[in-house]
Amino acid sequence: MSFVDTEEQAALRKAVSEFGKKYGGEYFLKKARAGEQLTELWQEAGKLGYLGVNLPEEYGGGGAGMTELAIVFEELSAAGSALLMMVVSPAINGTIISRFGTEEQKQRWLPGLATGEKTLAFAITEPDAGSNSHKITTTARKDGSDWVISGQKVFISGVDIADAVLVVARTEDAKSGNLKPVLFLMPTDSPGLSKTKIEMDLLLPEKQWQLFFDDVRLPADALVGEEDAAIAQLFAGLNPERIMAAAGAVGTGRFALNKAVEYAKTRQVFKTPIGAHQAIAHPLSEIYVEIELAKLMLRKAAYLYDEGKDWESAEAANIAKYAAGEASIKAVDQAIQTHGGNGLTAEYGLGAMASTVRLNRIAPVSREMILNFVSQHSLGLPKSY
Ligand SMILES: Cc1cc2nc3c(=O)[nH]c(=O)nc-3n(C[C@H](O)[C@H](O)[C@H](O)COP(=O)(O)OP(=O)(O)OC[C@H]3O[C@@H](n4cnc5c(N)ncnc54)[C@H](O)[C@@H]3O)c2cc1C
Repeated sequence: MSFVDTEEQAALRKAVSEFGKKYGGEYFLKKARAGEQLTELWQEAGKLGYLGVNLPEEYGGGGAGMTELAIVFEELSAAGSALLMMVVSPAINGTIISRFGTEEQKQRWLPGLATGEKTLAFAITEPDAGSNSHKITTTARKDGSDWVISGQKVFISGVDIADAVLVVARTEDAKSGNLKPVLFLMPTDSPGLSKTKIEMDLLLPEKQWQLFFDDVRLPADALVGEEDAAIAQLFAGLNPERIMAAAGAVGTGRFALNKAVEYAKTRQVFKTPIGAHQAIAHPLSEIYVEIELAKLMLRKAAYLYDEGKDWESAEAANIAKYAAGEASIKAVDQAIQTHGGNGLTAEYGLGAMASTVRLNRIAPVSREMILNFVSQHSLGLPKSY
């Protein structure tokens, strides 16, 4: 493993960074405030091959790995224009379909995911189960060769712009006990699927939905992967999700830090620019250190994942997500402080980021659940739950 980008990765990073700056934070804010999607950015990123860098070449992808997809997401986020659906569509879904889908599923979905012409949402969270995925009750019943799905999901991002949702369910004969997940690709226009928008106090173009499955009938080929071995298949998708969450948080942290540094260099109220005061400079330097450390762990997680080491990658992905999430929250908070009153004006857009960045401590896996993972798996401590 190298601690620095290869020549190709550096070129990708530079190209995406320049591309992202063309849109930038103002574009994001304008769209999010208008309740609109970042459609132009998504489509152009797709055409340039950025959305599918991790997908296999034979299905229209770039043939690279999670390291490269994380670079794309980090740089777009660092430019102020994060594309949340990248976490879900090419990272979770693209990975699961590439690794466990049938030939027909690969041909049907991967080329579209790579160009961004097709988008897939991902649904595991349920109102009563929350962080405890073992408690999910969405059930898949066999009826002839069809599957019939009933249940509900909550906080599912981007269902309104997705062609289908990858639904995590249980089979009827594994209704209770530790989760034995089965995964289904459910078209968003399936009869019996309804959705309600959740009003969020977040400035995000992507909307969140509660989903209701009222005996949604799916053909046999909607099943992705094995009926029996899906826990490994699910985790093969959840590690990329954490890696991408870390990459997005690193990027957002860099974006906020850069804004703060630029402001601190020019704003002068006493005899030097405010950045000369250590009370302003040191917190920013501390955040720089924390972001750099998170980046290192992100690199390790993506490297292990790309080497096919799913289990080893899980610890690193959790640690990277924790470190990057915390650093990004600190970065936005300190950027607001550095800007004084301007930190809370609509023009600078930092106040709006304060609630959005808190997401990095909650989703896709909360700070506490990561610390539980470390307590049990890294330290061997007993479990409280
Ligand atoms: C904007 C947004 C987008 C999302 N997008 C998606 C999506 O596309 N698909 C999807 O499936 N889900 C999505 N989610 C759901 C997200 O993954 C969950 O919100 C998250 O996993 C936390 O679950 P919860 O909200 O039910 O909180 P809970 O599980 O109810 O937890 C509440 C609090 O209790 C803590 N807690 C719970 N159990 C323990 C324990 N054993 N030890 C210590 N602390 C504990 C948690 O850390 C948290 O702080 C999204 C959420 C948001 C907010």
